[in-house]
Amino acid sequence: MRFLILGAGPAGLTFANCLKRKGIHDFLLLEAEHDPGGLCRSIHVDGSALDIGGGHILDVRRPEVVRFLFGFMPREEWNYFVRDTTIHVSGKFISHPFEANLWQFDTSRQVEYLSSIARAGCVTGQPEPEKFTDWITWKLGDKIANDYMIPYNTKMFGHELPNLGTYWLNKLPDVSFEDTLRSCLDHQAYAKQPGHAEFYYPVEHGYGEMWRRMADALDGRILYGQHVDAIDFDSHTVRTAEGGEYHGSIIINTIPWREFRELHGMPETLKDSIPRLKHTSVQVKYIPHDMDTKAHWIYYPDLSLSYHRIFLRHNVLLGSKGVWTETNADRIEPPDGNFSYMNKYAYPLNTIGKPEIMSSLLGWCRGKDVHGLGRWGEHEHYNSDLTVELAMKLADTLA
Ligand SMILES: Cc1cc2nc3c(=O)[nH]c(=O)nc-3n(C[C@H](O)[C@H](O)[C@H](O)COP(=O)(O)OP(=O)(O)OC[C@H]3O[C@@H](n4cnc5c(N)ncnc54)[C@H](O)[C@@H]3O)c2cc1C
Repeated sequence: MRFLILGAGPAGLTFANCLKRKGIHDFLLLEAEHDPGGLCRSIHVDGSALDIGGGHILDVRRPEVVRFLFGFMPREEWNYFVRDTTIHVSGKFISHPFEANLWQFDTSRQVEYLSSIARAGCVTGQPEPEKFTDWITWKLGDKIANDYMIPYNTKMFGHELPNLGTYWLNKLPDVSFEDTLRSCLDHQAYAKQPGHAEFYYPVEHGYGEMWRRMADALDGRILYGQHVDAIDFDSHTVRTAEGGEYHGSIIINTIPWREFRELHGMPETLKDSIPRLKHTSVQVKYIPHDMDTKAHWIYYPDLSLSYHRIFLRHNVLLGSKGVWTETNADRIEPPDGNFSYMNKYAYPLNTIGKPEIMSSLLGWCRGKDVHGLGRWGEHEHYNSDLTVELAMKLADTLA
C-alpha cells in the first residue's frame, strides 16, 4: 500500500476519506474493533443510541470541518443546541462556567468565593507553582479549587493526578475579581462558554453514525479485528496479533503508542520513553431514568459519588430516555445489571515531561515516514473536530 493507516477512529477515517477525494485509492486501514469510529462509536441500548466512548457532541466552531462532515451526514440529520450544562456543588446546580456563575449561590457563599479569588496567588503576585493542584489554587483561589476543580480533577484523573504538569492549563480562563464581583452584583455570567458553546448532535442516531457513514464511503478498505502490535521502521512492515503482515510506504499511526509490543529499528531511548505516556480509562454506564433538568450534561465534583459526569441522553437525542454516567476506572462500582462499557484508552494525560517525549518520538518517526495523528498518535487531548481538522491538513501535506 502507498498509505497504511492504523486505526479507524475519526483520525484514520478522515485521513482515508481525504485520500479518496484526491483520487488516491492505494490505502488500507487496520482496526482492532469490529466497528469504525473509535471513541466516537455508538450502539443501541434501551431503544436508542448510546455513545459508548462517553457523551460526544460536534462543536460548531470549525466551519470547514463541519462542512466536510456534513458531506457524509447532511445538516438536516443534525439538531443544533446552545450549550446548557451545570456543575453540582454543595447541593446546588450552578451553570457552567462555574467561575462566571458564582452569583447563583446565596450571598454569604458569594462573599467566600470573592474573597478567595482576591487572595489567589496569581492576583497577589505569588510565583507560579509547578504542581497541578497548587497551580489550580494559585490561579482560581482556594475556594473554587477546593469545592470544584481539585475534587473534580481527582475524580477525572484518579491516581495520575499528582503526575500532571501545568503546561496545558493556560486554556483555563482568567478569573478576575472585578468581573466576578460585577456578575454577582448584576446576577448574570460575565464570561461565555469556553468550548462547545454551540453544538450539533444527530437527530436520530448517536454520534457514531457520523463515522459509520465515513467508513461506508471507503468501499471495504478497512480490515477489522486486526490488533496492530508490531512495526518495523526499516522495512515499513506492520504486524497484527492475528498474524497479519502489511506494508505501507507511508504509515499513519492513530493508535496508542503503547499498543506496539515491538518497535523494530527505533532507538532504545525512544522505546523506553513510551511507557511514560499515560492515559486514563473511563467506564460509561447507562441508567434507564430521566432526570428533571434541561441540562445536556452535568459535572459532579462530589467525591462521595463514583462518576464525574452525567450525560443526559433524553435532552440531546430527542425522543430517547435515560442518562449515562462516566467514571474513571479507579473509581468504578461493582456491576448492577445496567449496561456498561469500559474504554481502556479514554484521556491521554498531560503528565510532566510528555511534550518532550512526544516531540522526540514524532520527530524521529516522521523522518521514517511514519506519522502520528489524532488523540493517540499525538497523545493530545484532542476533540473530534480538531482531530478531523488535523487529519485533513496532514492529508493535504502528504498526498
Ligand atoms: C469521555 C469522552 C468524551 C468526549 N467528548 C467529546 C465531545 O463531546 N466532542 C468531541 O468532538 N470529542 C469528544 N471526545 C474526544 C473524541 O473521542 C476524540 O477526539 C476522537 O475519538 C479522536 O479520534 P482518534 O481517531 O484520534 O482516536 P480514537 O477515536 O480513539 O480512535 C482510535 C482507533 O484506533 C483503534 N485501535 C486502538 N488500538 C489498536 C490496535 N492495537 N490495532 C488496531 N487498531 C487499534 C481503536 O479501536 C480506534 O478505533 C471525548 C472523549 C472522551 C473520552
